[in-house]
Amino acid sequence: MVKRFALAGNPNCGKTTLFNSLTGSTAHVGNWPGVTVDKREGLYKKLSEPVSIVDLPGIYSLSPYTPEEVISRNYILDEKPDCVINIVDVTNLERNLYLTTQIMEMDVPVVVALNMVDMLDKQGDVIDEKELEKRIGVPVVKISALKSTGLDKLMERAFEASNQKRASTSVLDNCEIAHLISDVRIALMGHDIENPLFHAIKLVENDELEVQMHPNTVKMVEEFKKTYVNPLFGTDFDALIADARYKYISKHFSPLLVKKQAGDKLSKSDKIDRVLTNKWAGIPIFLVILFSIFHLTFGEDFLYLGKIFSFASLEELGYGDSFGTSLLACFYDGAVFAPGVILFNLMDLLTSTLFGWITDLIAGWGASPAIVSFIGDGVLGGLGGVLSFVPQIVFLLLLLSILEDTGYMARVAFILDRLFRKFGVSGRAFIPMIMGFGCSIPAMINTRTLADEREKTMTLRTIPFFSCGAKLPILAAISGAIGALLGSDGGIISFAMYVLGMTVAVVSIIVMRNTTQKGDIAPFIMELPVYHAPGFRNLMILLWDKTKHYVEKVFTVILLSTIVIWFLSNFSWSWEFLMQEVDGEMVNLRMNESILGSIGMFIQPIFTPMGFGSQLNHNGWVFAVAAITGLIAKENVISTFGALAACVAGGLIGTEDGVSEVVAIMGSVGVAPSALWPAMIAFIVFNMTTIPCFAAVAAAKGETPKGKFKWTLLFWIVSSFIAASVTYIVLSWWWTSFIVVALIAVVIYVITTLNKKGQLKRSK
Ligand code: GDP
Ligand code: MG
Repeated sequence: MVKRFALAGNPNCGKTTLFNSLTGSTAHVGNWPGVTVDKREGLYKKLSEPVSIVDLPGIYSLSPYTPEEVISRNYILDEKPDCVINIVDVTNLERNLYLTTQIMEMDVPVVVALNMVDMLDKQGDVIDEKELEKRIGVPVVKISALKSTGLDKLMERAFEASNQKRASTSVLDNCEIAHLISDVRIALMGHDIENPLFHAIKLVENDELEVQMHPNTVKMVEEFKKTYVNPLFGTDFDALIADARYKYISKHFSPLLVKKQAGDKLSKSDKIDRVLTNKWAGIPIFLVILFSIFHLTFGEDFLYLGKIFSFASLEELGYGDSFGTSLLACFYDGAVFAPGVILFNLMDLLTSTLFGWITDLIAGWGASPAIVSFIGDGVLGGLGGVLSFVPQIVFLLLLLSILEDTGYMARVAFILDRLFRKFGVSGRAFIPMIMGFGCSIPAMINTRTLADEREKTMTLRTIPFFSCGAKLPILAAISGAIGALLGSDGGIISFAMYVLGMTVAVVSIIVMRNTTQKGDIAPFIMELPVYHAPGFRNLMILLWDKTKHYVEKVFTVILLSTIVIWFLSNFSWSWEFLMQEVDGEMVNLRMNESILGSIGMFIQPIFTPMGFGSQLNHNGWVFAVAAITGLIAKENVISTFGALAACVAGGLIGTEDGVSEVVAIMGSVGVAPSALWPAMIAFIVFNMTTIPCFAAVAAAKGETPKGKFKWTLLFWIVSSFIAASVTYIVLSWWWTSFIVVALIAVVIYVITTLNKKGQLKRSK
């Protein structure tokens, strides 16, 4: 059997970084506590035999208060790994060793990995690891998980340790209740219980899990305990033991770490934090950073020069129609584009060119026009619309993860706590929410770290409103199309949509707090990690991982959906092929008679309050269908437009960028652009706030507290209908809406003040 080494340690001590370095995996590393909430396995192959490495969730102790602690503790006790590699963050030595002293109390081989020695070196601090090894009694190896130093040695020593049995040891041996512990231990040994020392100490601590597990022994422990009363702690054995551990650590272990400078000087991190977590400046700085990120991703006029001067486009400058011009136009065309937009343009040029060749090739072989249209417009058109966005999506995720890796995001959770409390959740909820900008699935899994059930439910429900990477094409393509039709900046619309999503989240939390999820807000304690430059390796891992994820999705779920949509939209119920040749192009002028068309027209009225329902005649049902296919995967919304645009416009090859396809469809619904745009914005809002994709729904089902899942689904449906309808109504009749809103506000104000006065009177 393959040997198993478990990585255990405090949150944020570098377990996942070490896990990735050892196994070559690409697990998510984040610079805040609580990123890994489930255990994960991988293989290390550099020893004489492969060993399995298990990354456990971060924990501060083995007394289970949180689900993570239960997972880690049970893993070590029940699954009996061959060795526990205890990772200790040297920059937080005492707190990390507190866990070490507990792990040592189990009969399992242990090796201590002193991590982040690169930070020690930088600060000029020194640790005597040889002496520490002597005093602790288990092997101690200095490593840097980030820089991959000391890893081979660590693994060799862990391998040696795993070949031997290790008997438990405890730093409590000489404390005043050592006898009590010893008595309980002997009693447990009489019952043939494994790890008697560990269980004995936990029983004396009155540990909840332990008390449940050994109900008979508890009585005896209570008897034993009666003879001990401590002057300071009384009968609070839990506190007494914690105190004894810390005393031992600071007396015997801490002095081995010699700091270069006396501790009263502010560290660099503290200095940065004075500004970034400042009471007044903190939130504005965060908003500026967030805006910069979206501007870097979506800015059509990156340098804002177009607002001051007006620049000629390439065409006006006299550039002809060539590949060189197209390439140049990826970077500049009347304005300098932001890096995200440039990436998008380049990818679009690449896919369009490539797909154009493929289609020409197939046509050249003499394939029938129907086949050419199926492959060129249907399949490739649909895929191209989504593929073009992959680099831009990954770019956005990269920027967000740089913020995360430096340690800034943890600060944001901290500075937002005060504000979030006003809405009804703690700042801790911010972490899964911001993870939602990447993908809802890990974000939902992360809500496990929220101890309070109500807070967890509310956070889980609002995660989809933080528009994920897969929704980026919807935002960008539709904003781009609106921009193209009305001559405005699509980038600004995208940013506004992100803000709107967050606003919907806040509003729904306030509503839930006052209705179904009443209760107190959980306290928020989180240790702030030290700032550091983002790890290049970590970022590259992320880059590769995300790219792979989206490309895989494009060629599986989305490809399949596109094919199905093409067939359903080009055949009628009586299996008549609806395409016909007009001027050498295959077009489908009878799409409304297709299977998809009739289904679409049937559901279309549902969307009427949001502006993209019955108002749109002719091909308007396309929006209804796209919204439904989006429930499978959000990328489907744009690939559906891609597949259907060919029908309405014919021969779109060369412009599969998502935007032109939306423009084509918008042009075919028989409503003037000036009247259509509010409905299109409402369409974005609907997709952003409704039920997320299949995979995310499955994740949500796993995480929602019992019995709340169906309400969560209903919540998403209702919130998307309300948010999108309000958006449509306000944008279409904004002047009227102002008056209505003002009136409502006055009424609410009058009612609440009257209420308060009434309460005051009654309380007097
Ligand atoms: P986990 O919560 O224990 O899994 O910790 P992670 O692996 O997610 O790492 C937490 C943070 O510490 C990340 O920002 C890492 O880049 C950083 N980190 C991990 N190992 C080292 C190290 O050896 N040196 C330095 N300077 N930073 C590290
Ligand atoms: Mg981790």
